[in-house]
Amino acid sequence: MKIYEIRVKRALAPSGLPEYDYALNPYVGCLHGCHYCYAIDMTRGLPGKMWGEVVYVKTNLLEVLKREAAKYRPGVVGLSTITDPYQPPEAKYRLSRGAIEILAEAGFHVSVQTKSGMAVRDLDLFVKYRDRVDVGVTITTLRDKARILEPLASHPLARARTVEKLAEAGVRVWIFLGPIIPGFNDSPGDIEEVVELAHSTGAELIYDRYRPKPLADARLAAQYRQVRAGEEWWARVKKTVEEICARIGAKCTDAEEEWRSARRRKRYGV
Ligand code: SF4
Repeated sequence: MKIYEIRVKRALAPSGLPEYDYALNPYVGCLHGCHYCYAIDMTRGLPGKMWGEVVYVKTNLLEVLKREAAKYRPGVVGLSTITDPYQPPEAKYRLSRGAIEILAEAGFHVSVQTKSGMAVRDLDLFVKYRDRVDVGVTITTLRDKARILEPLASHPLARARTVEKLAEAGVRVWIFLGPIIPGFNDSPGDIEEVVELAHSTGAELIYDRYRPKPLADARLAAQYRQVRAGEEWWARVKKTVEEICARIGAKCTDAEEEWRSARRRKRYGV
């Protein structure tokens, strides 16, 4: 595991994702090393080539961000889109914490997404800026097998406790059930446990399927097995998720539908 410090000229980047105006990635690469990670296909250099083993830390990020936050039009910032904001180096560098504070103070909305229990460290910030921050915790399954594909992320039960703590404190928290991968976490049992957590904490659940990408596919095939995610399979799984959500009474949203309406809002303001 290698950590390199780098300096950057820019902090915020325009986001291609419909739900965000800007993307903020304090790190390049991710030491959680998930085998299905789509960010592998978007990360250049050593952190992309040695996924999960090398990370670059943008040491001057906060000073650049302060300048940009004073200059740019406030909007929704995705923290982060191709890395995890609470991966191990964050314990020392505290870039995600600093970024949330700068952005919220400047009137931006920060949408955090993580697979780490370290997010609880910043509970004070999430509470202080509760109108300007939401926190998404990714949970693919609550079972131990998560370790197979997410070797260095927090155990899913630790992530579940994070959801509970944030919800108890009144933070806007949501669960990302994804990617749902054929034969890995698509059984009704796996899905129901995560939906139960959403229901008991009042967190919204957003679910999504695995979306094949060349490098992620190759890594999955090398570390686990080949995955074929066809339309027929997804129609069946989506129906299962919706039925479980309706029976339990949890608020569940298909990420694709969420993106469609976010795209409409962004383009046409409706
Ligand atoms: S935590 Fe997210 S960014 Fe990091 S390896 Fe896993 S999927 Fe990729």
